[in-house]
Amino acid sequence: MNLEQVKTVAVLGAGTMGNGIAHVFARAGYKVILRDVEQQFLDRALETIGKNLDREIKKGKLAESEKENVLKRLQPVTEMRAIAAADFVVEAVPEKIEIKRAVLTEADETVRQEVILASNTSSISMTTLAAMTKRPDRFVGMHFMNPVPVMVLVEVIRAVQTSHATFETTMKLAEKLEKKPVAVNDAPGFVSNRVLMPLINEAAYCVMEGVATVEAVDAVMKTGMNHPMGPLELADFIGLDVCVDIMRVLQEGLGDPKYRACPLLKKYVAAGWLGRKSGRGFYGY
Ligand code: NAD
Repeated sequence: MNLEQVKTVAVLGAGTMGNGIAHVFARAGYKVILRDVEQQFLDRALETIGKNLDREIKKGKLAESEKENVLKRLQPVTEMRAIAAADFVVEAVPEKIEIKRAVLTEADETVRQEVILASNTSSISMTTLAAMTKRPDRFVGMHFMNPVPVMVLVEVIRAVQTSHATFETTMKLAEKLEKKPVAVNDAPGFVSNRVLMPLINEAAYCVMEGVATVEAVDAVMKTGMNHPMGPLELADFIGLDVCVDIMRVLQEGLGDPKYRACPLLKKYVAAGWLGRKSGRGFYGY
């Protein structure tokens, strides 16, 4: 499938990432079939997309008259067979390998042979996911950052099976979305989490060992390294449970004890202090 043949994109999963991915494709002029398992999740996603488009209008990034056109390009569906016309598929269903397997197998049977399947997984091996399909050469990683409409990076991840043509089409497609695609080979954590998570983990160790307070660690990184958010503030935003899970993926995948999750992070997760989403993490919300 080359870039010019891609007109309709199916996005599987309309959660945090799926609604953002649908937003950026529809905004770039693509027809989007947005699939989730229940109508209520689709309704919520469309409401979020509407609000995020309003924000872009306020910032002068989108003409007011364009909003309706963007929304009209979105087709919410609950049945997998409704994605049959898609020319490109991005899955953003929960980070559970069995859910990914079920969704990818079904999508693989539903769309035409030449269609590329992309995954937005943040930690599962693209090579493993590609092997679950009957089109491993047309499988690729498209790792968007949260919030998708705002963040410019897309890691385009090559599974060992990914063909050159698949990779090239996906890189160009990301550019069409006005994103910055970066080529990465499949490895635990890719580049983004391989570098970010040990930083967050080390920041947690600093707090645990009494090297500095939460505020002080974040202040050093913000004012000293020009990071827009401190690592602990960012950890709360991502979710401490997600951080621990990704450290586990790095440790298991790379086999090096330097990737062990900080006990303080694990303790907070056990307490239900997951960050912003639970009202308490390193900070209170
Ligand atoms: P989420 O839980 O917010 O959304 C997942 C959605 O998928 C839900 O709406 C759920 O109802 C839906 N779903 C479940 N089973 C489905 C099925 N069979 N078919 C269609 N939809 C189904 O999760 P999320 O945070 O959007 O994460 C999605 C993926 O993106 C994960 O692989 C995650 O690792 C990755 N990711 C997340 C982030 C992040 O910051 N949240 C960043 C980058 C990548």
